[in-house]
Amino acid sequence: MMKYYNYAAGPSALFPEVVEQIKSELGNWANTHSSVFEISHRGTEFMAFAKEMENTFRELLKVPDDYAVLFLQGGGRGAFDAVPLNLPLKHNRALYLTSGHWSRQPALEAAKYIEVRTAELVDKDYQPTKLDWTQETQDVDYVHFTANETVEGIENFTVPKVSPGVLIVADMSSDILSRPINVSDYDVIYAGAQKNIGCSGVTVYVVRRSLLGHANKFCPAILNWQIYADSDSLFNTPATFSWYTCGLTFKHLKDTFGNLENLEQVNIRKVNKLYDYLDSQDFYVNKVNPAVRSRMNVSFNTPSAELDAKFVKEAQEAGLYYLKGHKVIGGLRASTYNAVSEEAVDALVQFMKLFADKYK
Ligand code: PMP
Repeated sequence: MMKYYNYAAGPSALFPEVVEQIKSELGNWANTHSSVFEISHRGTEFMAFAKEMENTFRELLKVPDDYAVLFLQGGGRGAFDAVPLNLPLKHNRALYLTSGHWSRQPALEAAKYIEVRTAELVDKDYQPTKLDWTQETQDVDYVHFTANETVEGIENFTVPKVSPGVLIVADMSSDILSRPINVSDYDVIYAGAQKNIGCSGVTVYVVRRSLLGHANKFCPAILNWQIYADSDSLFNTPATFSWYTCGLTFKHLKDTFGNLENLEQVNIRKVNKLYDYLDSQDFYVNKVNPAVRSRMNVSFNTPSAELDAKFVKEAQEAGLYYLKGHKVIGGLRASTYNAVSEEAVDALVQFMKLFADKYK
């Protein structure tokens, strides 16, 4: 029987076990005789589920008590506004470290509210620049960086060093929960759900509690972290189905891997199969410096745009879906998020070998 694999960049694959559970609970979730998305978010069942969802997330990421975990709407892009609108500002200035497409977008958005400086954390040749930004951050309120560049396949594993008192904000939309982090190294972490967490419609924020309560007076209530912290994230009607998929995924991660240390080992082993193959041949090219190669998105090219297009078509015929690169850089991209199995990576490498032999 033909097998199908999903390498989509987001929304992307959920764990098959999670999808099966969703199917089995449709129409009667938690003995409510309704689907999870047909009932009140303020009912006992949903509120209990939401509490457990937050607790499991906290446990997995080891979130200290002095951090709030908030679930908002608006996606990653909503956070591009929420950050400058919520943080306490003295200088009205921030440094946005860029490393690719998704770190340049929040800088453009923040410039509506504050003075934005930018500097390259990874340059146009996919080389990391430096980690010590103490000098450049003497007179800024915060530094923003993007932990994983979903388009180019660049992952910034190390938190940049900044001047004392300067806040660190990280967009972890495409690598959250894929590896352990020390939450205390950050002041704000945010992530759209639709890659490693669940369905689109939820944005998770991890915010140092001492930073709450400073929102700009024009900050919309639906982006105001304090309001969400005060209401257990139930200020307005949440995307209940998306919350449900997040809660199921967190539980699945905990039950299957135990902790993020274990999961990280699986992710490293899995993606290295792909990088090892890429490094062993000269048909495909991956341009990213090995120090910042992403474990979540692997971008590569064949020798020509025509062959890239053929690759996408023939891969799909072989059951390998969504390998087209993002439109801003073209080429090919395989996403290897938590829910993408090792078997899927093996199948991809196998297909890549056959394709290279055919067109070399
Ligand atoms: N940040 C990163 C790293 C992303 O990959 C994306 C979307 N692919 C976004 C932000 C924007 O997220 P959204 O579409 O949820 O606004």
